Amino acid sequence: MGRMSHADAIVEDEVSRLRAELASREREVVALRRVALAMNASLELDGLLETIVQVALELTGGRRAHVVWRDDQELDRLLQAPVRGGSWRMPEDAVRKVEAVRHTLATGEPAHDEERLLVCLPLVAPGQVLGALCVEGQMPGQDAVADLHVLAAHAAIALEQAVLFAALRRRSVELEATLRRYHEAEHASLTDPLTNLANKRHFRDQGKREAAVAKRYGRPLSLIIADIDHFKRVNDTYGHLRGDDVLKSVSATLSRTVRGADLLARWGGEEFVVLCPATGPDEALKLAERIRAAIEAMHGPVPGITISLGVATHAPDEELDATLDRADRALLRAKEAGRNQVQS
Ligand code: GH3
Ligand code: MG
Ligand code: MG
Repeated sequence: MGRMSHADAIVEDEVSRLRAELASREREVVALRRVALAMNASLELDGLLETIVQVALELTGGRRAHVVWRDDQELDRLLQAPVRGGSWRMPEDAVRKVEAVRHTLATGEPAHDEERLLVCLPLVAPGQVLGALCVEGQMPGQDAVADLHVLAAHAAIALEQAVLFAALRRRSVELEATLRRYHEAEHASLTDPLTNLANKRHFRDQGKREAAVAKRYGRPLSLIIADIDHFKRVNDTYGHLRGDDVLKSVSATLSRTVRGADLLARWGGEEFVVLCPATGPDEALKLAERIRAAIEAMHGPVPGITISLGVATHAPDEELDATLDRADRALLRAKEAGRNQVQS
C-alpha cells in the first residue's frame, strides 16, 4: 500500500468533481421531468403552480416556496376556481413587504434578502416577466440555487403555455355563453311566451319560405285559422288567469293534433294558425275537423271549450296574406253558421 501518487490524487479529485456534477445533473433532470410531467398530465394552471413549488422545495430543502404572479387579478381570472389560499400563493401582505420579491418582479433579475433566507428568481417568458419563484429557508448551497435557476427557466415556459391555454379556455367559455344568449334571444323573438308556440313573426317567415317551396315544386299548401268560441265569456266567468290556462291547454291539444311538418302558431289573442305544407284542400279540411274534434273532447281547466276554423289553400301566385284573408273569411262563416265547425 503505497502513498497515493499526485496523479492519482488529481484523478480522484476529478472523479469526485464529476460525481458531484452528475448528482446535480441528476437532480436537475428529476426536477425537470416532474415539471414536464405536470405539463403533459394537464395544462391546468393550479396543478402546475403546485408542482413547481413542490419541486423547488425538493431541490433546495427550503421551508416554504411560492409563486408570485405579476398581476394577481389576471391570475384569478385565469384560474378555474381561484384558490386564494393555494399553497403556491404568497400572502399578499408578504409580497408588498419583501423587497426582493418586488425587485425581481420589477426588473426580472434574481434577488435575495440580506440574510439569504429568501431567494427570488424571475419566471421569464420571452419578452416578459410572468412572476417570481421565491424560496424561503436556509439554502443548502450554490448547487441548489443553480438547480432552482434551471427549474425557474423551464417552469416559466410551462406556465406561459398553461396561461395561454387557460386564456383560450376562458375565451371559449365566454363565446359559448354569448352563443347561448344569442340562441335564447332568437328563440324568444320567435316564440309566444304564454303558449310556447311559434309567434306571428315566425309564422310569416316560415310561411314565405313554404310558399316559395310549394310554388317551385308545384306542391299544394294550405292554411287553417282557428279561433276559440266565446272566449270573452271564459274570461268574464272564470277570470283572466283561468283564461290563460285555457289558452295553454288549447295550444297543447293543437300541438298534439297537427302533423310533424305543420307549423302551428299563435296568431294573437285566442286565434291560432296552422301552415300545412304538401296539403291540398281535402286533406286540410280533414285536419281542421280533427282539430275541432280534439278541442271539443279536451278536458281542460274550463269545460265546454270549442273552436271554429277556416281553411284555405294557397294558390301558386297568390300572396300569403291573401290566403290568410280567405281563411279568415271562412272562419267568419263558421262563426256565423253557429261556431264549433269548419268552413272553407
Ligand atoms: P267568438 O266566438 O266570436 O270568437 O267570441 P270571443 O269572445 O272568443 O271573441 P272576442 O274577440 O269578442 O273576445 C276575445 C277575447 O279573448 C277578448 C280578450 O280579452 C281575450 N283574450 C285575448 N288574448 C288573451 C290572453 O292572452 N289571455 C286571456 N285570458 N284572454 C285573452
Ligand atoms: Mg273567439
Ligand atoms: Mg278572436
